Amino acid sequence: MSSEQHRRVTVHGDKEVVVEFDPELTFECVDECTWCCHHGVLLYEQDFFKLANHASLSDATVQRKGTDFIKREPKDRDEHVDVDGQACYFLREDGLCELHAEHDWKPARCSTFPLEVSVEDGEIHVSVRDKAREYCDGLHVSDRRVIDNLEAFLPEVLWELDDPTTRKEL
Ligand code: SF4
Ligand code: SF4
Repeated sequence: MSSEQHRRVTVHGDKEVVVEFDPELTFECVDECTWCCHHGVLLYEQDFFKLANHASLSDATVQRKGTDFIKREPKDRDEHVDVDGQACYFLREDGLCELHAEHDWKPARCSTFPLEVSVEDGEIHVSVRDKAREYCDGLHVSDRRVIDNLEAFLPEVLWELDDPTTRKEL
């Protein structure tokens, strides 16, 4: 999409994002997929401290170049794992997220998937992650337009962060 076609959308009352994907894009998470839970998850500072309410940070997280992530770990099963047999520390055997299922909470980075957040000239831009286009089973499978439901993907905490970009990976 060219910059001329970017749309500004208001979310959470008065916060604006620049949308860089096709407004007709639809998404509905497919339960059996779990592809995005095969990875280590970027933890913003606020998430890091909230996670401490639910888990041992020393067991569940790892730091790389000053950034905190949820660990990946080998899982003793064939389902819901990446090709190397690993997945997110919190991905349960049944394919559900332990944090979401048991505490009704998950890190902001998990909410944004399959979108990607970047910052240009002080504005939050939202696009679809390249890898999500390839691996996320939830794109184009429902009539739920992403652009109409942006608040579900973009937690308010993003506007409180010095750097809300989601590109950092473990
Ligand atoms: S990759 Fe997409 S469809 Fe699969 S679990 Fe993640 S958000 Fe859902
Ligand atoms: S914290 Fe939960 S939602 Fe996020 S990647 Fe891990 S299992 Fe998936």
